[in-house]
Amino acid sequence: MYILLFIFFHWYFSLFFQTFFLHRYASHNMFKMNMFWEKVFFFFTFIFQGSSFLNPAAYAIMHRRHHSFTDTEKDPHSPLFIKNIILFNIATATRYRELVEKINQGRIKEKNLPRWPFLEKLGESLLIRALFILIYFSFYYSFTTASWQYIFLPLNIFMGPLHGFIVNWFGHKTGYRNFPELEDNSKNSLPIDFLMMGELYQNNHHKKPNDINFAKRLFEVDFGFLISELFKKMRIIY
Ligand SMILES: [Zn+2]
Ligand SMILES: [Zn+2]
Repeated sequence: MYILLFIFFHWYFSLFFQTFFLHRYASHNMFKMNMFWEKVFFFFTFIFQGSSFLNPAAYAIMHRRHHSFTDTEKDPHSPLFIKNIILFNIATATRYRELVEKINQGRIKEKNLPRWPFLEKLGESLLIRALFILIYFSFYYSFTTASWQYIFLPLNIFMGPLHGFIVNWFGHKTGYRNFPELEDNSKNSLPIDFLMMGELYQNNHHKKPNDINFAKRLFEVDFGFLISELFKKMRIIY
C-alpha cells in the first residue's frame, strides 16, 4: 500500500514539474515568473525527477525542435519514423545527451532558457543519481510486503524519461483528433487526461502550441492548466 502511494505521489509530482516547468515554461515560455520562483521550480524539478533529472535547457531545445519538425524525419522523436519502442527511446536519449554536451560547452544559441549551471551539474552527476536510487530503494526496502513489488522500482528510477516517452509515443500514435487538418500525426490519447495532466492532448497542443490550456472541448480537462491558473491567482506566475 505504501509503495503504491509512493509511486502515485512521485508520478504526479514529477509529472507536474515536467509539464509546468520543463514544457509550458522552459520550452514554450507560456508565462513568466521572477528569478526567485524560477529557482524554486527548478529546484523542485531536480528533487522530484531525482535519479532521472532532465536538464531544462536541453529539454526545451529538443522540444522546440519537435514542434518545428513534428512527425518529419527531423523530429527528434516521432513514432512515425522510429517504430520500435527501444530504438525510439535510444534515439531520444542520444539526442538529449548531445544537447546536454552542447549546453555544457556553452555552444547554444537558443534564447529564453532557464539556466542554473550548478544544479544542472548536480542533477546530471552519477553520484547524485545513484543517491536518489538509494533513497527509492530504501523506501522499497522499508515498505514492501513481498519481494515481487520491487518490479515497480524502475518506474521511480526512470520517471522523467518515462513520462516523456508516454507523451511522445502515444500522443503521436493513438487517439482522436479535434484538428484533422494538421499535417502531423498528433493525437489526443485520452478524452479526460487524468494520467498525464493534459500532456496527452497532443493534437490540441500542436494546433495552438502557445495556448496554455491544452483542453479544447467541453469534456476535456487539462489539470496542468488548472494548476497554472491557481499559480496565476497567487501571483506566482504572470
Ligand atoms: Zn507532440
Ligand atoms: Zn509543446
